[in-house]
Amino acid sequence: MRRPFIAGNWKLHKTTAEAVALVEALDSGLTDVADRDIVVAPVFTALTSAASVLSDSNIALAAQNCYPENQGAFTGEVSPALLKDAGCRYVIVGHSERRQLFGETDAFINRKVRAVLDTGMTVILCIGETLEEREGDKTFEVLERQVREGLQDIGAAAMDGVVIAYEPVWAIGTGKTASDAQAQQAHDFIRRLIADLFDKQVAERVRIVYGGSVKPGNVDGLLRQPDIDGALVGGASLKAEDFMRIVRFEAG
Ligand code: PEP
Repeated sequence: MRRPFIAGNWKLHKTTAEAVALVEALDSGLTDVADRDIVVAPVFTALTSAASVLSDSNIALAAQNCYPENQGAFTGEVSPALLKDAGCRYVIVGHSERRQLFGETDAFINRKVRAVLDTGMTVILCIGETLEEREGDKTFEVLERQVREGLQDIGAAAMDGVVIAYEPVWAIGTGKTASDAQAQQAHDFIRRLIADLFDKQVAERVRIVYGGSVKPGNVDGLLRQPDIDGALVGGASLKAEDFMRIVRFEAG
């Protein structure tokens, strides 16, 4: 049994005061939830304040990005070591906005994956096809390349520190969700690929979560799919009520 994993990616939203108010609301509203991992990813500048609120909580902190070196002349960048120092246990890597808006390549993303794993934090590796790629029948080719190259030189043991987020780009922030069947088909493909690249045990253990317009109204159906182990939530994670309902998904 894989432990469900629900993460909120707040993107470039919320001041420190607003972030603290949201983590306080989530912390008090979700204290009884013990059977799933709950993660939130505020902006860098709110991380230490959020960490103080969550010091004794069942909610963990993630960063939205990092640079793959721990120190040096890299003006403006933030390293995995500093994110761990700020209270993070997870780092999101390879989000489609980073790939599309900031030109991040699979090779660069792989450096980040390895740098995060080296600190002992868990990496949330985002992959997913664009609409053009889906319509051009390239979905599986793209997913295979992103998984192979993103996880290059990662050993089977280190895979315990990896969560894969399948996020079809056409479903992110658009209100268009992949159907339960479309998402399940992609997750099944990714899990079989992990079995080929590593082994069956790694594939059975790795958590593959879905992202792309997840909302209180569609989470239950998605999470009912056998290979969907959780959700990476953007827009709906900014409202305490919505995110708490998503965390409390009912897949039974
Ligand atoms: C995301 O940013 O990872 C995401 C899935 O966003 P949204 O839920 O808003 O589509």
